Amino acid sequence: MPLLEKKNDFGRDRHTTQQQPGRMKMSGVGNETRRNNFDQGLGITDSTYGLPSVLGWADAPANGGRLAGLFATCANSDCASGWLHLWRSRSGPIFERGWSCSANCTSMLLQAAIRREMGGRQSETISRRHRVPLGLVMLEQGWITPDQLRQALDAQKNAGQGRLGTWLVQHLGVAEQLVTRALGLQWNCAVLPLDFHDADGLATVLPRLFIEAFGALPLRVAAGQILYLGFEDRLDRILALAVERMSGLRVETGLVRESMFVSAHRQMLQASFPNSELIEASSESALVRVLTKAVERAKPVESRLVRVHDCLWLRMWVRPQVGPLPNTGDVEDVICSLGSS
Ligand SMILES: [Zn+2]
Repeated sequence: MPLLEKKNDFGRDRHTTQQQPGRMKMSGVGNETRRNNFDQGLGITDSTYGLPSVLGWADAPANGGRLAGLFATCANSDCASGWLHLWRSRSGPIFERGWSCSANCTSMLLQAAIRREMGGRQSETISRRHRVPLGLVMLEQGWITPDQLRQALDAQKNAGQGRLGTWLVQHLGVAEQLVTRALGLQWNCAVLPLDFHDADGLATVLPRLFIEAFGALPLRVAAGQILYLGFEDRLDRILALAVERMSGLRVETGLVRESMFVSAHRQMLQASFPNSELIEASSESALVRVLTKAVERAKPVESRLVRVHDCLWLRMWVRPQVGPLPNTGDVEDVICSLGSS
């Protein structure tokens, strides 16, 4: 996904300058001209996703911080301040359940997290699996005839655009449900229902930019533990994993019938989203600086960093979350574009 392209589209959005809640604020960061060094092998190979799988909001942060009493320890293992921080009056910020005693320690924690996130980047492209073409799946199931497939492929080729499934439905009278079922077989996933959709209630699942750029649609939260995330014609498992790590909810993905998806997705984009800021950083050091500034300013009670394709997503909880999803005003998002490398 060429995120830069999407980001620029976003930048042209007429709403951008109005600074409405949930709309993007663009910032350029750093004037460094050197290329970012994310891909240059920073020596961090740990691509495991080290966040706690369950949020545990009732608990104090893992290493306590000021919340746990006087003998708080800084989460930065290379913290140089020793016992000095005991005299510092800092109740925050908390990053990935760890309290940091100073802006310097916050910046070191963020740098380590950025490197961790960038570590697994290459392996993603390798793991992309070959998929049986949709037309062949439908033919194999006996849902279309060879003649219908040929006609749809010809029409698609002549038009130079459009998805095969759309051609089959709109011009050859194939039932939309069959196309969605075939997509489900192709992606080996469920077809999810969309009976009742609470767009506003789900607007804190992920930033508006990701919903728009990656064609995702949060569908519902079940039993306070499972989040159903819908897609139109292809799953985005990287996004799903990022949402799972960020929210602490188990994410189940599936496809939604095109006609239902389109209207619900459009409505979702009108919902009221948490404030978010979009940042372009020209180097890792610029990125660390701007994220440190954001975390130090917001003094969040929790914050987390995950990667979504070519973006890093920092979410800061300015108030403790009650329930499976945060309220709109309880979180702030920072999305960092990592360039098109
Ligand atoms: Zn420290």
